[in-house]
Amino acid sequence: MAKTIQAIRGMNDYLPSDTPLWQWVENKVKHRLNSYGYSEIRMPIVESTPLFARAIGEVTDVVEKEMFTFNDRDEESLTLRPEGTAGCVRAGIEHGLLYNQEQRLWYIGPMFRYERPQKGRYRQFHQFGVEVFGIANPLIDAELIIMTAKLWQDLGIADHVQLQLNSIGSLEARKNYRAALVDYLQGHFDILDEDSKRRLTTNPLRILDSKDAKVQEVLNDAPKLHDYLDDDSRQHFETLCSILDQYGIKYEINQKLVRGLDYYNKTVFEWVTSALGAQGTVCGGGRYDGLVEQLGGHATPAVGFAMGLERLVLLIQEVVADLPINPNVDIYIVHQGDNTTLPALQVATQIRDQLPQTKVLLHCSGGNFKKQFKRADKSGAKFAIILGEDEVAQQQVVIKDLLSGAEQVTLPMSEIINYLTPFYQSH
Ligand code: ATP
Ligand code: MG
Repeated sequence: MAKTIQAIRGMNDYLPSDTPLWQWVENKVKHRLNSYGYSEIRMPIVESTPLFARAIGEVTDVVEKEMFTFNDRDEESLTLRPEGTAGCVRAGIEHGLLYNQEQRLWYIGPMFRYERPQKGRYRQFHQFGVEVFGIANPLIDAELIIMTAKLWQDLGIADHVQLQLNSIGSLEARKNYRAALVDYLQGHFDILDEDSKRRLTTNPLRILDSKDAKVQEVLNDAPKLHDYLDDDSRQHFETLCSILDQYGIKYEINQKLVRGLDYYNKTVFEWVTSALGAQGTVCGGGRYDGLVEQLGGHATPAVGFAMGLERLVLLIQEVVADLPINPNVDIYIVHQGDNTTLPALQVATQIRDQLPQTKVLLHCSGGNFKKQFKRADKSGAKFAIILGEDEVAQQQVVIKDLLSGAEQVTLPMSEIINYLTPFYQSH
């Protein structure tokens, strides 16, 4: 036998046993986004490399070490998208969707990051992303967060995720804070781990979410970001918190939450769970009022979030007791003998047409009834519909309930739908 070829490390296949739950999640999310008036946008998976370098920031983890970048045949540098916001803004500018308009957009699709694969962290993973353009009012930040909270209810995980919230202020405020933080940390340089030492010159705010216990201890007495917030950001944050309070959304203000990408300002938030170990962030987002202009468009306020579908699916599998999916078919049609093929095809078509919510499987690989019934049992179908030569001659079928073991019944073909309807009406 020839040598087999395997999938790329960190890039998964999603098998027929996995996809029903994925579809269920995707449908719930799409339905919820639709109910809030969001529209889908689809962007390419590949973009030109400078888009990400400019949008995400040169000294972020993503751009420094996580991108899949390659030259195409014309020596142009391309990158498999590590996230969707940059491409969405690029598309919005390119097609004139953003100037002087409000847009509420969502997308779903694979993202690529060259990370060490582990549970909840892959090199190809999938995100649902949501981006709102043209609204500066904190009410939209609040509504986005409320929408995610609603989603967790839809997915049955509301009791297992917590909201972390912060404001990282304006660029100017962050610059001032950054200087104060660097100043303070330089006085404790020896205690810092290697990563934090390096970040002190490249991206010091990222030191705030260092996992190192000693670094965290030093940070306890460090200057606080909120003491450096500009008035506009402070006001924005107070209004956001007040709306969430009134609406009854619980959150924890975490001044160390800064998020990994450079483009954020003012509001940042994450939904985290303790049920997935180290990969606990299922959704993250925030405001990015400067990005559209930075990428060549007119200044446009913007806010959005992305959720990791693998982590959501893992969490649902972990905490939802009765998974709301049934991968089985409903009806399995067996037939044997001369002149049974066409009637079997017709019966299958008739049921699919008139009871469109049922899954009907027609046995297509021949063999005797014994073999066919084995397949029918294995399919998990409730009903087997049986057509032999005698039945066809008399325009009848036999229906057998495979799950209850009740007596099989013989019906005229014209009665099949009437017989099945009560079982599938509100299915
Ligand atoms: P983390 O801190 O876990 O690396 P991140 O801050 O890099 O996450 P974002 O860029 O905010 O992640 O992406 C939004 C969401 O996408 C994350 O909250 C997570 O659910 C998911 N995600 C990010 N990277 C991965 C990955 N490599 N594999 C699976 N899901 C991921
Ligand atoms: Mg990351």
